[in-house]
Amino acid sequence: MSGDRPTTNYDPAALKEKYREERDKRLRADRDAQFQDATGVFEHFADDPFIKEPLQRAPVSEQVDVLVVGGGFGGLISASKLVKAGVTDFRIVEQGGDFGGTWYWNRYPGIRCDIESYVYMPMLEEVGTIPSERYAKGAEIFGHCQAIGRHFDLYDRALFQTRVTRMDWSEEEARWIVGTDRGDRIEARHVMIGQGPLMKIKLPGIPGIQDFEGRIFHSSRWDYDYTGGDTEGGQTRLADKRVAVIGTGATSIQIVPKLAEHAERVYIFQRTPSTIAARNNGPTDVAWFKSQPKGWQKARMENFLTIISGLPHKEDVVGDGWTDFWTRFAKRMAEQAASGADRPPPEIMQEVDFEKMEELRAQVRELVKDPKTAEAAMPWYNYLCKRPLFSDNYLQSLNEENITLVDTEGRGVTGISAHAVHVGDDRYEVDCIILATGFDVGARAHEAGGYEVTGRNGVTLSAYWSDGVKSLHGTQVHGFPNFHIVGGTAQGTLAFNYTHVLEIQGEHAVDQIACDLAEGIDVSEVSEEEQAEWYALLKAKKVDKQKFYEECTPGFLNNEGNFRDKPTFVGSAYGGGPVEYTGIIAEWRQARKARR
Ligand code: NDP
Repeated sequence: MSGDRPTTNYDPAALKEKYREERDKRLRADRDAQFQDATGVFEHFADDPFIKEPLQRAPVSEQVDVLVVGGGFGGLISASKLVKAGVTDFRIVEQGGDFGGTWYWNRYPGIRCDIESYVYMPMLEEVGTIPSERYAKGAEIFGHCQAIGRHFDLYDRALFQTRVTRMDWSEEEARWIVGTDRGDRIEARHVMIGQGPLMKIKLPGIPGIQDFEGRIFHSSRWDYDYTGGDTEGGQTRLADKRVAVIGTGATSIQIVPKLAEHAERVYIFQRTPSTIAARNNGPTDVAWFKSQPKGWQKARMENFLTIISGLPHKEDVVGDGWTDFWTRFAKRMAEQAASGADRPPPEIMQEVDFEKMEELRAQVRELVKDPKTAEAAMPWYNYLCKRPLFSDNYLQSLNEENITLVDTEGRGVTGISAHAVHVGDDRYEVDCIILATGFDVGARAHEAGGYEVTGRNGVTLSAYWSDGVKSLHGTQVHGFPNFHIVGGTAQGTLAFNYTHVLEIQGEHAVDQIACDLAEGIDVSEVSEEEQAEWYALLKAKKVDKQKFYEECTPGFLNNEGNFRDKPTFVGSAYGGGPVEYTGIIAEWRQARKARR
């Protein structure tokens, strides 16, 4: 495949029509109601399989300067910045048994980061971690989270296996009174909410799912007692088992090649094929890594963010599958400008998109030997309709004799019974079902955490946001003093490299908190006027994505095909992009300091 050579032998009108047909097959009346939370009778799906001995401890009653909710990258970045700012009186509450968040929970075989580790894994320079590969294994990223915890002395400040259950603002004390499921009472001057978007697991609401008598679990709660092995593979206990994997997203394509090594049979139930480009992973050149100048990681992250935000850039430092799409677009725009052609950017973008997708489909044809399977694995939609995926072994694994790709032609699995998965009249007998069906990515932070936040005058965040998010910068809320969201996408910002957003918003929060504590200011709150101004700017900078997402195949980016009535976090993030957003919030902090 050439990244530069235009592919011209396609018919744009025919492709558009094919995309529309494929989308229409997938549109469902129940839209996002098709999914089931892990609550009530499904609660056990969220149980922690990694804790061998449940923690026993007495409830904690204390006052702290800051409470950090979450011990994943959001919480770790927040806490490390607090330490660096000289704030030492803080507590971290984390539901899992260790730091890690997403990387604590997701330990399925084959797990890797799909963003380059040199830009994704935060604080490499400070902590001294050298990722062994360009796209690091999950266990290594989990290890890096633990290393951050040790480096910044965070373990003693953490309450693990503990879930926040409520958060109430006390006017008298000018503190947040935070309760947990272990009976703790933590009175915190400031709170930082660092729960990420992959916190709340999504189960498919498939009829009969409760009737299954074999082993069934979500990919983020992997049962190694049942499968054997570890994240590297070795699932030998599946040698006499027929395994169903439901879903073909980022998780599934990493799991399947590992299952192929040992399971008697693997049925992959596909509703929509993903776009899968070559990963081209490889070992880190340690000499190169060690020769990097101070501050190189920040510069690399910023270069990556600039490119995938579609902004002008001098060089593509990362130069991988992610940046490829945007560098092609930038190059084509420059060519057009040089030739004097006056074509609108969306038209050029669509052209680059068709070419990219044609190449990806050609690659499926090349790698998947059985023509029927290859046809089924081809994605028919615009490139950014779904999160782009990369793999060096998924498509290849479809050639294995023990793998069957079950193409449900957009319908999905229609039923589950005691010993089988059903697609229409077809029945597949299985021993185990792995639900690689993802997460409620758009859930608001406190909802994902399953608790309510009550601000001034008894107003809850759920009530205040009942008609949609109201905030300043997606991170602070009027009526909720000393309250900071780290990872706020709705009315905030978005980036494929999510840890970069956490860096930006973590810095924003800690800078304010550290100033307030140093200056003895007990209460800080953003005003309604500031929120109104931010909303006006959001409107002015809004990029109209409606047409694009309406034409897309359903998924979490377009609210399962319901973008018009209920735009997702994608539709409400700041339209000027994360680079501009970073500048705006930095300026706001400067002005805040100047006012004092
Ligand atoms: P996704 O939401 O991306 O995929 C869920 C899959 O389940 C889709 O293929 C979906 O099909 C399918 N599905 C849902 N319901 C049914 C049904 N009833 N029948 C059949 N199929 C069904 O979840 P993932 O866990 O794969 O990924 C979630 C996110 O996690 C990613 O977007 C990414 O942000 C992150 N991730 C990141 C990784 C990394 O390396 N950084 C690795 C893994 C995940 P359909 O497409 O038709 O909806």
